[in-house]
Amino acid sequence: MPFSNLGLSSSFLDKLAQLGYEKAYPIQQQAIPAILKGKDILGIAQTGSGKTASFVLPILELLQTQKPSKNRHIKVLVLVPTRELAIQVNEVFQVFSKDLPVKLKSMAVYGGVSINPQMISLQGVEILVATPGRLLELQENKAFSAAELQILVLDEADKMLNLGFREEMDRIFALLPKKRQNLLFSATLSPDLESINKNLLHEPVIVQVEEEKKNLDLIKQFVYLISEEKKGPLLRYIIKTGKMEQVLVFTSSVHKADTVADKLNKNGIKAVAIHSKKSQQARIQALENFKAGRTTALVATDIIARGIDIKFLPFVINYELPRSPKDFIHRIGRTGRAEASGEAISLVTPEEAQHFKVIQKKMGKVATQIDGNDLNLHGY
Ligand code: AMP
Repeated sequence: MPFSNLGLSSSFLDKLAQLGYEKAYPIQQQAIPAILKGKDILGIAQTGSGKTASFVLPILELLQTQKPSKNRHIKVLVLVPTRELAIQVNEVFQVFSKDLPVKLKSMAVYGGVSINPQMISLQGVEILVATPGRLLELQENKAFSAAELQILVLDEADKMLNLGFREEMDRIFALLPKKRQNLLFSATLSPDLESINKNLLHEPVIVQVEEEKKNLDLIKQFVYLISEEKKGPLLRYIIKTGKMEQVLVFTSSVHKADTVADKLNKNGIKAVAIHSKKSQQARIQALENFKAGRTTALVATDIIARGIDIKFLPFVINYELPRSPKDFIHRIGRTGRAEASGEAISLVTPEEAQHFKVIQKKMGKVATQIDGNDLNLHGY
């Protein structure tokens, strides 16, 4: 369906065309008209489904129709589970609000960095994207007021609950005006989430899209059976012989991410590790360099498996398997997005083989198997 059928004004249609968004994705087809009508939304959708634009576009459209007030106040609050997602969602707001007739100011706030500059920059912000903990800190410092709030968005609500944000979220809900529009997005529906839905949403329009399966069909999957001590040389062999220029490598611990990145660098493959022990600035820099093609390999723990959007990422390598099949799907979902195909490669030791079987069963997909021990890894 073209975007022109959804009730968006021409300033957005031109921008969508410039960005190469030719047709609206299913979640956008369903959510945009409902949000424009002022309805609450319960969206069951994964990253990669186009869910960000499905709320950003109608929110900006709604704000465009309002007279700009002299004293700008926060009208839209988007709660997200991680700093990376906060930055990314804010970027989407900024891309779509650039050059609009009514100027709108948006900002991302998150913990792990000094609060003072955020308090100063909050002046005049109308759209705030925040992680729950930092939002409460700002409120305690009297830098955040929700008196004029019109729209609340919970993005990746299931992840926020998994990360233990329930209490913070309840404290935030208590600060908000009763009359408002609520948009809740989640990859899954858990009983905990049900209770939030019941208390928060008013006759929501339910939007559900099956994204994971569709994504998986676009991903070519390979599994290399290999011993633990040969994983390093095999990784370098795969990157070098595959002439990979942009590859996301997953490990299951911070320490492993650092050592794998170190070894890659020592062997002439530009790599950088990204994980929770790195400073926020270092994480932003690492992602920027990777997106811009200045680093070949980004070695990551699961912290960035969700939510990070890297357009057309061609390769994902699981140096180690994650514990849950869900995390596996989220990891490999970083490739094969936005209808582009990608390749996911897993390095599996005999000890991990049974666990990999379980993952494949849950996915309903079987990876092409290669015996890494048959390869000549000498010199890698
Ligand atoms: P999201 O699920 O919001 O993380 O979006 C996934 C990716 O799809 C992002 O790179 C978006 O820029 C892209 N995208 C979203 N909607 C469309 C569309 N209608 N056409 C093409 N790309 C899109």
